[in-house]
Amino acid sequence: MEARFELALAEINHCNKCGFCLPACPTYKLTGNEVDSPRGRIALVEGVLNGEIAADQGLEESLSYCLGCRACETACPSGVQYHRVLEAGKQVLDKTRPSHRALTFLPRALLRLTRHPKRLASLARLGRRTAHWPLPEQLRALSPMLRYRSEEVPGVSVHPEPIGKALFFQGCVQEALFSDANQAAQALLQAAGYTVTEPAGQTCCGAILWHAGRSDEAKALARANIEAFEATGEVPIANTAGGCGAMLSEYGEIFEDDPAWAERAQRFSARVQDWSRLIMESPVQLEFQGNGERVTMQNSCHLVNVEGGGDVPALLACRVAGDQFLPMASQDRCCGSAGIYNIQHPKWANRLLDAKMDEVAAFAPSRVLVVNPGCHMQMTLGVHRSGADAEVEHLARYLYRAFLRAQGQP
Ligand code: SF4
Ligand code: SF4
Repeated sequence: MEARFELALAEINHCNKCGFCLPACPTYKLTGNEVDSPRGRIALVEGVLNGEIAADQGLEESLSYCLGCRACETACPSGVQYHRVLEAGKQVLDKTRPSHRALTFLPRALLRLTRHPKRLASLARLGRRTAHWPLPEQLRALSPMLRYRSEEVPGVSVHPEPIGKALFFQGCVQEALFSDANQAAQALLQAAGYTVTEPAGQTCCGAILWHAGRSDEAKALARANIEAFEATGEVPIANTAGGCGAMLSEYGEIFEDDPAWAERAQRFSARVQDWSRLIMESPVQLEFQGNGERVTMQNSCHLVNVEGGGDVPALLACRVAGDQFLPMASQDRCCGSAGIYNIQHPKWANRLLDAKMDEVAAFAPSRVLVVNPGCHMQMTLGVHRSGADAEVEHLARYLYRAFLRAQGQP
């Protein structure tokens, strides 16, 4: 048996079927069906790996409805690494029916685009110009986003007492659709004392391809990123997209059985940090002044459950004097975006989103903060669907304005 399947079976053997992960699982909460729960998915993969059931006996549907949010991992008292089981199951399926054939044309086209960030950015510009055109149902999740206008964010001077360097990872979707979030985060990092540079040669992190089971293509992107950043010593690698940060922080695991890349990948991953953490840990503590707004936040489940430091965005939002931060009970629960999940399974994604929007509505905020581009699109759709009078924006944009206000700038 291949090493990756043995690793998955080792995880499965740690699972004592206690079910503590079930209440944490958004898809189980939706249906109440065991087959939509982590425990049910683990049992299916176990049956297939042990040859007790065939791969076409429900595995594909069960795994395809998994968000990959990994909330089940943080809830598991036995420390079962569910994602290893999920990936093994997808790889089994890929052997019997290659993942690209399991996808319809539009998700396949979007996956291809992630390998070409410049083409993605051009398409986003074209999309904005044609935002009034009707879109196929599968792409409606993207339609409110096409009206988003990313504005140029002026940089700020590096703090007079620099504390060190930071390298910036742009991310393909984040840079194509929300470059203002990247610019705002870089400005705040500079104000907090970091000298920030963007290494050439970086590309998409590969997360969307990886979660779609296209591991070879994802690994090619990962190798390009490792090469782009490795000439720069131990300098931290900052990014503004929780989904990208999680993927980058797991390059070490992805290449663990590849002697040529394992060590390089581990060194790379050890340097990855969400930009918010660098701001929080800087000895130069920034001040933020609000404007009397009511603000809530949708966190990134991958930042919370995988990368770590998921509590930091809310802690920073709480530091904005004069604004009221209203934490949603479900702020760490997946919004339904999950890579291309909202395009593959719009009905389920919308049900997850609508439940979240009920919470948003109870707060009546003027602003919904996000820390990941997929959540940005999904929460914008939620605001659009619910008719809420709120603006969705990345935490970095919000804090940038609050920082300027604290500096006495309008
Ligand atoms: S994955 Fe963990 S929490 Fe879930 S059933 Fe298995 S041991 Fe229990
Ligand atoms: S990754 Fe998320 S959706 Fe999938 S089984 Fe775990 S908690 Fe449920």
